[in-house]
Amino acid sequence: MFIQSPIVERLIESFRRLPGVGRKSAERYALHLLSMPPEQAFDFSAAMREAREGITWCPVCRNLTDTTPCVVCADDRRDQSLICVVEQPTGAMAIEKGGAYRGVYHVLHGVLNPLEGIGPDELQLELLFNRVKGGNISEVIVATNTTAEGEATALYLARRMGALGVQVSRIAHGVPMGGGVEYADAMTLAHALEGRSRI
Ligand SMILES: [Zn+2]
Repeated sequence: MFIQSPIVERLIESFRRLPGVGRKSAERYALHLLSMPPEQAFDFSAAMREAREGITWCPVCRNLTDTTPCVVCADDRRDQSLICVVEQPTGAMAIEKGGAYRGVYHVLHGVLNPLEGIGPDELQLELLFNRVKGGNISEVIVATNTTAEGEATALYLARRMGALGVQVSRIAHGVPMGGGVEYADAMTLAHALEGRSRI
């Protein structure tokens, strides 16, 4: 590294906590930040703090929000009886960008993964089941990723919610196998939602 300093080291280690950032990239980011005009760097840090303090999880759908509930849950022009279940807020963001979906969301913040100790409790699935049990839900679309864990989670949700008497469907063609919902383009996602199948 360009300078031996515990302060710089702390900055590098902070960047390394971001996904996909290794030691080399973290060093590059740190160097870049230290080369910026001070006010730009302070603005960067203030934006992070403001976002982290001001953004919470919606108590209804667990999407990221700066209002309670989020704008989607509070919007009565949206079909509140149609829930689309996604793994991460990025999945909901990608579907929103498509502009065709008029229902609401439920964000799991992960998928079932027994090997890593992530079960229904860790994902707080009761919150989703309670939404369904609360009535007025006509359909749940499961838009988890098409990975092994995403598929296993979809099957689990279908079994549990099917027992509650609600129609459960899965987005189908269009989303590449092993791919993430957030990486699919808007048109692909629109087709995938359109072509969902019952599970
Ligand atoms: Zn919400």
